[in-house]
Amino acid sequence: MSKHKQAPVGDDSEFTDKLADIVGAQYVLQGEATEYFATDVYNRLKRPLAVVQPESVSQLQAVMACCQHYKIASTTRGGGASYTDAYLPNRADCVILDLGRLKRIEEINEHDGYVTVECGVTWAELKNKLDPLGLRTPFWGPFSGLRATVGGSVSQNTLSHGSGAYGISAESVIAMDIVVADGSLLKTGSGAAQSPPFSRFFGPDLSGLFTGDCGSLGVKARITLPLLRKRPAHQTISFAFNDFASMHQSMRQIALEKLEDSHFALDGALSQGQIARQDSPRQMLAIALSILKTSPSYLQGIKQLLLSALAAKKVMSESPYMTHYIVEGVNQLEAKSRLQRLREINRPFAREVAGTVPAVVRGMPFAPFFNTLGPAGERWVPLHGVLPHAQVLNFHQALNALYTQYQDDMKRFGIWHGGMFSAIGSSGFLYEIALYWPDSITCYHREVIPKAYLDKLPSYPENLEARRFVERLKNQIIQLFSDFTAVNFQLGKAYPYAQRLQPQALRLTRAIKACLDPDHLIAPGNLGLDSDGV
Ligand SMILES: Cc1cc2nc3c(=O)[nH]c(=O)nc-3n(C[C@H](O)[C@H](O)[C@H](O)COP(=O)(O)OP(=O)(O)OC[C@H]3O[C@@H](n4cnc5c(N)ncnc54)[C@H](O)[C@@H]3O)c2cc1C
Repeated sequence: MSKHKQAPVGDDSEFTDKLADIVGAQYVLQGEATEYFATDVYNRLKRPLAVVQPESVSQLQAVMACCQHYKIASTTRGGGASYTDAYLPNRADCVILDLGRLKRIEEINEHDGYVTVECGVTWAELKNKLDPLGLRTPFWGPFSGLRATVGGSVSQNTLSHGSGAYGISAESVIAMDIVVADGSLLKTGSGAAQSPPFSRFFGPDLSGLFTGDCGSLGVKARITLPLLRKRPAHQTISFAFNDFASMHQSMRQIALEKLEDSHFALDGALSQGQIARQDSPRQMLAIALSILKTSPSYLQGIKQLLLSALAAKKVMSESPYMTHYIVEGVNQLEAKSRLQRLREINRPFAREVAGTVPAVVRGMPFAPFFNTLGPAGERWVPLHGVLPHAQVLNFHQALNALYTQYQDDMKRFGIWHGGMFSAIGSSGFLYEIALYWPDSITCYHREVIPKAYLDKLPSYPENLEARRFVERLKNQIIQLFSDFTAVNFQLGKAYPYAQRLQPQALRLTRAIKACLDPDHLIAPGNLGLDSDGV
């Protein structure tokens, strides 16, 4: 038992009655009704005492104060689209705060260039609101933005849309309102000085402190992000590579010039997965419509579609690695000039391919959650590390050696893997690994995957042996990342953090945690901040 664990005060029903007084009885879920909320894409730990769904920031504050009074732990769930046990309770005397009802977009201040949202707003909801105004935020969401929330993404360092030009979620935050353990509200940025939330920087960067904390320092109630006018023109382009080293060199050099809005790269296994999905006629139609919708003219859309059908499929099935870019400009001339520069950089490394995959992503930036299972219905868990460029090839070789070492077991259990890559600014390289294995699905998949799609997928019986093997392999890969000096973004309970910190940094982090959450009731287990012996 953690040395911080406090004995609860009073009995559970007294506590849940108090919660019901605050949020209404129908917003305090218990028993079976908590199962979906207590299951993430990959895992389930303990059943919580209750799931509480506050409707306003003041209700959230009252719930936190109540937890503090009764010494009950809490974890926070945004859209629930993570896979690192991050919002899963690791003890039974714990409630899950589901922020799905904190949905107000409070202020769109075009004049002062910021937008303030409650933290349960999803990226898709924010985009829908800003699009008609011709506005956007710099980072504008992960691929999971149909469900992923602004609060969840900022809490665990997220990238994708807009990251080529503007970096990860943490870099698109100005200010926050955070509810700490006793229920009081802490404001960061210029909000800390009782000014409007227009500036992040006012003395030490308090907003930065809470980015990537996986909810372990407090519950984000509101976040203010910068607003930008949308660029009217965009182009897409893809490149095929014969080997990993060429792809890495190309991505490193392109990142140094900051030419694009968004990019991603896939290995052959994941590209094949894309093709498998696109083989469903319904999916093909959705893709076709999305390309048409986002093409500057109908004719160009049809041209791109034809190119997609004829060319991309063949190249995707043959290429070990592909990179995909979306570039923007104040007009087509600028967008095309940027495209031209991408071609020049890539000349020694790659073949150009029709930019169909990025066009699809641009047209449907927040796809339904098909990808939470493999293309043949396999279970899926992603893991990642952010490496300095100097270590990327060494890590790649060591990882392949690990796969070779376990190839017989992986074959026996039907486990396969794919890779997805991204430059993080000019100085980091995200190496993401997806593991797939045949196993039974959970209530999470049944809730988030559209039924018509799920019904067509093969299903598998429970496969505990394969599941345990995947868990062991995953932990070995996490160790390999740290052997090669990688850091991790979405730490949750899956990646070591406190264990890796130097003593001075650990002392400071612990002191901050103790100040905001003296009884260690918030997000127990996350970041390893409350475990004994660290
Ligand atoms: C299909 C799919 C695609 C994905 N694509 C991407 C991608 O493109 N890029 C990427 O980086 N990741 C991606 N992810 C991972 C994940 O969805 C994102 O990182 C996303 O930002 C998580 O947001 P969420 O609201 O679902 O957070 P949750 O999963 O609900 O929570 C994540 C963490 O944040 C904490 N948290 C949530 N809300 C708050 C709050 N208000 N205050 C304090 N703490 C809080 C939780 O306690 C937890 O520790 C993907 C996942 C899936 C399933």
